[in-house]
Amino acid sequence: MKDIKSMNPAELEQDFKELGLQKFRAKQVFTWLHRGARSFDEMTNLSKDLRLRLSEQYEISSPEVVRKQESKKDGTIKYLWRMKDGNCVETVLMRYKYGNTVCVSSEVGCAMGCAFCASTLGGLVRRLTAGEILDQVLFTQIDSGQPVSHIVLMGIGEPLDNYDAVIRFLELVNHPDGMNISMRHISLSTCGLTERIDKLASLHLQLTLSVSLHAPDDETRNRIMPVNRSCGVDKLLETCRRYFAETGRRISFEYAMIDGVNDTRWHGELLAKKLAGMGAHVNMIPLNNVEESPLKPSSRENICRFQQILERSGITATVRRSLGGDIDASCGQLRRKQLLGEH
Ligand code: SAH
Repeated sequence: MKDIKSMNPAELEQDFKELGLQKFRAKQVFTWLHRGARSFDEMTNLSKDLRLRLSEQYEISSPEVVRKQESKKDGTIKYLWRMKDGNCVETVLMRYKYGNTVCVSSEVGCAMGCAFCASTLGGLVRRLTAGEILDQVLFTQIDSGQPVSHIVLMGIGEPLDNYDAVIRFLELVNHPDGMNISMRHISLSTCGLTERIDKLASLHLQLTLSVSLHAPDDETRNRIMPVNRSCGVDKLLETCRRYFAETGRRISFEYAMIDGVNDTRWHGELLAKKLAGMGAHVNMIPLNNVEESPLKPSSRENICRFQQILERSGITATVRRSLGGDIDASCGQLRRKQLLGEH
């Protein structure tokens, strides 16, 4: 059966035409799907016959909530969803002044192997479909009753390793007949797959690209991010400059502050030098503890010093406020606990 949630309006129209249906039916069905209909039976402006026919051809993905945790401190909500095949992914809803932001997963597990990340501990299980990525935004909005205005692709998985589904998801979630979320309200975070960054640049999307840099030199970056061994910091930064030139969109660099690993004065100064002149913004994230990892967060003093070094060189650097600390709302930790059978 065909995965209808991953289809765009043009594909639906084409399919429906082949089924001998009128054009407006495609728009009706697309609208129902993107309002969260879980079955064709809910689509009450279609005849019973038509609903039956469609249900024989197509399946509608819709995940179930396995766990839902709500932070008492800041209202952050973390969902663990179970999909049709039994695999689970996490989604986090964060409340900011400018709007509600959903952090979605793009894959079940991750193949990238970053030393500080809980999502990669069991490797990659499978990539999500566009519909499954969309479902996270849609059903988080429906379940929480909170309208979602912003999306970050910063959950489990490497979005550019699942390129086609992610681009399709962006098209769907941005569609005026669907959730209609502006590209300017979407951030995509990558560990730095350079060929895919070039491919993305050619699409000229208005989203924000975040690059998880975490170190300005190969020795440090090789230690914590295996992906660096095949490409290297300088080639990655060249790619980022190209992206900026091609799209006019400034890149945001993520930098997890890890005690004694990437947070020295030397690292700060080298980072400032390498990012000069590209309008870069650095998003410093105090490392979240992952039980399986010996890496620890930097001290407050080191974080302040690092930020000052960057700002003195004219690079804007902000320290990310940590939300949902009381509910493991970070970096694949809930799915990990579920897999390990902890409750
Ligand atoms: N694979 C993508 C997106 C998912 S991770 C990427 O690498 O960018 C989202 C961000 O969280 C990345 O910057 C990632 O490096 C960071 N991250 C992962 N584990 C972390 C941890 N324990 N503490 C702080 N940041 C972490």
